[in-house]
Amino acid sequence: MDQREPSTAPLQTPTLAQFQQMLDAAERIAQLGHWCLDVTTERPEWSPQVFSIFHRDPALGEPSLAEHEHYLYPDDWIRLQRAVADCAAYGKPYELTLRIRHNDGTEGHAQVYGTALIEADGSITKLVGFVQDVTRKQSIETALHESEAHYRLLVEHQTDLIVKVDNKGRFLFVSPGYCRAFGKRQHELLGQRFLPLVHPDDRASTEAAMTALYQPPHHCYLEQRAMTNQGWRWFGWSDSAVLDEQGQVTAIIGAGRDIHVRKLAELELLRTQRMLELALESGNIATYTANFTTGEVYADERYLAQLGYEPGEIVVTQDWWQANVHPQDLTAFSTQSEQVMAGELDDFTAEYRFRHRDGHWVWLQDHARVYDRDADGVALAASGLRIDVTRRKEAELKLAYHADHDPLTDLLNRRGMWRAIKRIHAQSLRSRRPHCIAIFDLDLFKQINDAYGHIVGDGLLQQIARLMRDNTREADWIARWGGEEFLILMPDTDIEQAVELVERLRRKIEVNDFRIEPHSLRITTSVGIASCHLNGDSQDEVVNRADRALYAAKHAGRNRVCAETDIA
Ligand code: GH3
Ligand code: MG
Ligand code: MG
Repeated sequence: MDQREPSTAPLQTPTLAQFQQMLDAAERIAQLGHWCLDVTTERPEWSPQVFSIFHRDPALGEPSLAEHEHYLYPDDWIRLQRAVADCAAYGKPYELTLRIRHNDGTEGHAQVYGTALIEADGSITKLVGFVQDVTRKQSIETALHESEAHYRLLVEHQTDLIVKVDNKGRFLFVSPGYCRAFGKRQHELLGQRFLPLVHPDDRASTEAAMTALYQPPHHCYLEQRAMTNQGWRWFGWSDSAVLDEQGQVTAIIGAGRDIHVRKLAELELLRTQRMLELALESGNIATYTANFTTGEVYADERYLAQLGYEPGEIVVTQDWWQANVHPQDLTAFSTQSEQVMAGELDDFTAEYRFRHRDGHWVWLQDHARVYDRDADGVALAASGLRIDVTRRKEAELKLAYHADHDPLTDLLNRRGMWRAIKRIHAQSLRSRRPHCIAIFDLDLFKQINDAYGHIVGDGLLQQIARLMRDNTREADWIARWGGEEFLILMPDTDIEQAVELVERLRRKIEVNDFRIEPHSLRITTSVGIASCHLNGDSQDEVVNRADRALYAAKHAGRNRVCAETDIA
């Protein structure tokens, strides 16, 4: 034995016995045995693994070649005999798969390789070879075969489409379903490129998806239209690349499904959504959803923009909303809100002022609908639209203002005053507190016009209006009732208080120098006062009584206040 320095070379040449052990172990692992057959005696030598493959007790020793019949089915036995004979006679190597019948009735599969050992003189005395147990491999292949049969059954009967294309996009396989959908026979399609079947508008995206399959994860989903025997239809394709051992793409397998109906519905939905978005955009309509359980409000970008906020700048909540609605408007729709929350109403519609980021008020039109309620009908969630109606609202308010106000003096006009009178009258009857009406008629105003002209007359009317405004209470209402007539409505005031207040005003007018350049004018006024009687008095009657009192004042010599009580 070659002894080397143990430190530098621990390698030892194995003994024959060791070598034999190693070979046995290797053969066991590989489930492979080797054999040798003496051509003349027809007696074989088996390695231990061959005994194991044949389930033969090594104690029995090797069977003769003739005894192999015991282990084989007749046809396999004939094939083996022929192969051995040919190999022994002509040196022809062989490879056979044999079924082996074990003594316990089970069955195995063995792959047998045989070759001749040719002597220097060309004679053949021995055959050598291997036997490999392929029982497991065989059963896997059988299973594979069976599953392939199942798979084919599946492919052939399903309406889904299976295709395999090479890396040039040419069909290698098309399922019957595919042929049916495209009204083509298999042989017409095989070898053809699939792309011409794809709608021109979808070719670029299809090609991009195909290119992407060459990169991990080698899988993609795409939707495309293709020309079928029913015209263009939408398909959804789930594609996977087939890779070889080097990781090169050798083919692409695609499973397709007709998604035409779903896709059309989806496109229609998309179109509707776009239209809605366009409508919301062009109308500057904001959308929101409110969760009443959590108090959270989801507000879109337009919602925030209407109020001057950037996206994400604030968190909208119900509390925040409530805190920013104009207090007067909040009370105006509080009943409606309560009804909506309680389930008596589904829709909430209101126009209200809302505080802009800069502090000014914007007018919003809000329309919300509850879409979720609990078992008791209490609202849980609503979604709504908000439109900035500031410009419209301001124009409306301006219009309403002009309808109710006198352009010369900026006081209420007759129409505006009648509205106030109706409201205050009803309030008086409810609260059992009287109000008073005073009608002023300037004395001998015609003479002013005659002396100074209408322009000066107008100026004087304006100054009197201002003086009246400056010398009445916050709660009083003043109107230009006619040409040079004014009316003061005094809520929550009895006749004595009214007389006192009006007398003071009459006096102010009397003593005032009205400067209308270059003139300085004096004027007096006569006033009639009436109070609302709480015993079913009508508003017209109050005005009529004030008128009669005014007439009395004029009659009594002008520049005086006359109460209805004075005329009885
Ligand atoms: P009195 O009331 O004291 O009996 O005398 P008066 O001169 O004021 O008579 P009356 O009330 O009947 O006449 C109202 C006058 O007021 C008639 C008109 O010339 C004038 N007047 C009415 N409207 C206007 C107006 O808008 N501008 C001007 N400048 N004058 C007006
Ligand atoms: Mg008059
Ligand atoms: Mg007059």
